[in-house]
Amino acid sequence: MGQNYEEVRDSADILIVGGGIAGLTAAVSAKEKNPDASVIVVEKQFAGYGGKANKGGGVLQYFDLDHMKPEDFLQYHVHAVGCYLGDQDTMLKYVAMNNEMIDRMEGWGISIPKVKMPTGPMTFMFGIDLDSCIKMTARAKKLGVKIYDKVAISDLLTDNGKIAGAVGYSLLDGKFYIFEAKAVMMATGSQNYRVSEMWSNGRGDGIAAAYRAGAQMRNTEFGNFGQLFRKESFHECVFGENNMYNKLGENVTKNFRRFPESDISATAIREWYEQMSEGKGPIYLHIPQMRGGGGGMMGEGRPYGQAFWSIQGEGEEEMDKDMEVVPGLVGEQSPIRVDGNMAATIPGLFAAGDSCYCGSGAPGAVPAPPGRNRGSGILNAVFAGIVGGESMAEFVKTAEQNKICEEQVAKLKADAYAPLEREEGCTAVDVIDIVQDIMCPCENSIIMSQHRLDICLRKLERAKALVPKMKAKDFHDMCDCHEAEAMVLSCEMHLKAASMRHESRGWFLREDYPQMDNVNWLKWIIVQNDNGEMKLTTEDVPIEKYPVQPLKF
Ligand SMILES: Cc1cc2nc3c(=O)[nH]c(=O)nc-3n(C[C@H](O)[C@H](O)[C@H](O)COP(=O)(O)OP(=O)(O)OC[C@H]3O[C@@H](n4cnc5c(N)ncnc54)[C@H](O)[C@@H]3O)c2cc1C
Repeated sequence: MGQNYEEVRDSADILIVGGGIAGLTAAVSAKEKNPDASVIVVEKQFAGYGGKANKGGGVLQYFDLDHMKPEDFLQYHVHAVGCYLGDQDTMLKYVAMNNEMIDRMEGWGISIPKVKMPTGPMTFMFGIDLDSCIKMTARAKKLGVKIYDKVAISDLLTDNGKIAGAVGYSLLDGKFYIFEAKAVMMATGSQNYRVSEMWSNGRGDGIAAAYRAGAQMRNTEFGNFGQLFRKESFHECVFGENNMYNKLGENVTKNFRRFPESDISATAIREWYEQMSEGKGPIYLHIPQMRGGGGGMMGEGRPYGQAFWSIQGEGEEEMDKDMEVVPGLVGEQSPIRVDGNMAATIPGLFAAGDSCYCGSGAPGAVPAPPGRNRGSGILNAVFAGIVGGESMAEFVKTAEQNKICEEQVAKLKADAYAPLEREEGCTAVDVIDIVQDIMCPCENSIIMSQHRLDICLRKLERAKALVPKMKAKDFHDMCDCHEAEAMVLSCEMHLKAASMRHESRGWFLREDYPQMDNVNWLKWIIVQNDNGEMKLTTEDVPIEKYPVQPLKF
């Protein structure tokens, strides 16, 4: 299989998969640290235009380090957000680098008007214009980074358990690409299950490639971020959880939130679910109470973003009415396990940004981004891009190029083109429909119980059986098939890890285990491919070595 497709070979010291803000930051940082290292970026959309940093509000987390110590934020975050499940060393490093990161971004040409808006205890946000990735692409090219657009990486190449490169194919002409590299970084974004169109590029195929190659995954059960959406338009209602009312006119926010919090938590969605179950729904937001946010931050100094928002914006007159809201899953599974240098568990493999936010352990018991901190998505991607890019720049100074195994190349080529070469079969959409049916209802992915998780796992078997039967009609469709397969994998990792965690902690809520259990569950769940079988193990959070300890009552 696959022999009909022409092969293209290239090599570099460093191969970065994904040209979003994390991948581009890594490319620029690696080059700045080690100008002699050759760097390739491979992007399945267009570097500068793909990815998420250009899709949303463009806000950037800011810590006023002149008036606050990183340790103060860590205290708050560990108790109120991460719920003791975080890697506190990495979180501290992230906060401490805040001002340096903003300075470096400005140095790379990114426009950051310094209009501050408070977002919660100890944090502010700045606006960042939505063309940051266009600026970073130009910067990367100027430094000599080679960019391949419209090439999707399908698998990693390994040599005796170490990284040797990666393979993929052109979405335009189907040519098969074989990249040899000493270090490979997955900057491929998170898994969003193609639910919400603005998040639709989070398809998890980079996560799946790392999993297949044997990389460990961590915190897969925290890929269940949800938001309140307007029922009419499915428009996201950021901060709407502060003004929720039931059909009796009762303020139901008071049931789960007694003081200002940094951002939405799963408890808002649980409240929606309970009110609806008790027949007190629908749930409305009281709009007049929501006015006045944003200040000058959303407009000033961001011409590129303003043009985008003028197309996206809702009519003012509609904003005057109370609106019915429903919870919608966004997803954001980001589980590739990395250490504080963004090194994954396979030698030579690194990751950055949304592919490994929860896998880094830094945010703790929250899906990320935003991980209850608006503006931490872009900033974390920049953080991980700088740290990972510089780590790779050092790594390749002494690392040998591992051997490419031609047998492995041939097998991975056959795997990649299999959906196109099948005579008949089902579509990628058939598979995606099943996964969305499982993941989208908040009672399956956000407020869970063993009974419902078991039903979901049984339903997932139908999707798993269809994976080897998907048939593609062209190269884009073939990519859809790979992405659908990745969705099945992410869903399975979520359901199995969620079944294993017998407690509620942070964003993770189980109806049948409603309490946080620091005696038995101060543990990370690790998921790994063990010769084709999904193996789940636990690992104690090394809480005793961290500065912040659980409160004792
Ligand atoms: C609507 C929306 C609003 C947001 N608003 C904010 C905000 O205001 N502030 C904030 O901080 N964060 C925000 N975020 C989150 C933030 O944008 C992301 O956390 C951040 O951009 C992630 O960057 P990344 O490079 O890690 O991943 P991505 O931006 O997802 O980039 C990954 C790239 O990898 C490519 N890729 C994936 N798989 C492959 C493959 N197999 N082969 C080749 N290429 C591949 C993708 O095409 C993509 O370009 C928002 C996100 C969305 C969707």
